[in-house]
Amino acid sequence: MIRRVAVTGGTHGNELTGVYLVKKWQQNPELVQRESFETLTLHTNPEAIKACRRYIDRDLNRSFATADLENPPNHYEAKRACELNALLGPKGAEQTAVDFILDLHSTTANMGLSLVVSSDSPLTWEAVRYLCAKVPELKVYRWRGDEEDAFVDSIAPNGFAIEVGPVPQGVLRSDLFMKTEALVYHLLDFFERRNSGEAVPETAQKVTVYDHVGLIDYPRDANGDLDGMVHEARQDQDFTLIKQGDPLFRKLDGTVIRYEGEEPLYTLFINEAAYYEKGFAMTLARKITL
Ligand SMILES: [Zn+2]
Repeated sequence: MIRRVAVTGGTHGNELTGVYLVKKWQQNPELVQRESFETLTLHTNPEAIKACRRYIDRDLNRSFATADLENPPNHYEAKRACELNALLGPKGAEQTAVDFILDLHSTTANMGLSLVVSSDSPLTWEAVRYLCAKVPELKVYRWRGDEEDAFVDSIAPNGFAIEVGPVPQGVLRSDLFMKTEALVYHLLDFFERRNSGEAVPETAQKVTVYDHVGLIDYPRDANGDLDGMVHEARQDQDFTLIKQGDPLFRKLDGTVIRYEGEEPLYTLFINEAAYYEKGFAMTLARKITL
């Protein structure tokens, strides 16, 4: 049984889709209420929302590593991460306050409607399979970093993030707002049907997944400053294949840097504004069926 679900927005304070969906639901809670479980809606980073910035001191969506929760650094997001862990987790516990966290994000990249999934839990993937059947345009990116998963949704045993784009930081777009909203209702309906013991026959048996392979940084000079940009032929080509020799970057002097990898892979999160500081221009993924 799913007893309690959290739908969170504003983890990045300048991603307004989630900020205003949560506001809408707090004004109209019946929209996210279902008979068999409780839905909690919540702004995770209120100070960043007020400032319309991604974060105040540190990216909140990288602040849920166990070591940071046990011994928090002295800044706003670390403190907030501990509060959220107490409210929704605690991370790794047998009994957590919520069973599932859906964290709402937007991206400046042309990612369409997509899920970022880092959990391996069977319930998480059952929900992914259901949503893929309900919403054919939905894409699934499985993130696997080298370090412990420190995302907001990692403090519950099940969950994922929605990423929707392209939408600039600090901007609301009604088309992507409504698509995100509809996806959330599908997920809540899935939990309701599952709780009732009803068979959910339309749940897909197999899903196409873009499985994380690696990151590519921009061309940079000796000081680490940008020395080029995403090539015009690669811009907006999220979820498309890149092959050896395809143009990747255009340097400031006009020269073209080409993709050298031997394996054709898919490019995602191309030219996302928030990742300039993180040192990557796009992610690479392998298309697989799960
Ligand atoms: Zn975000």
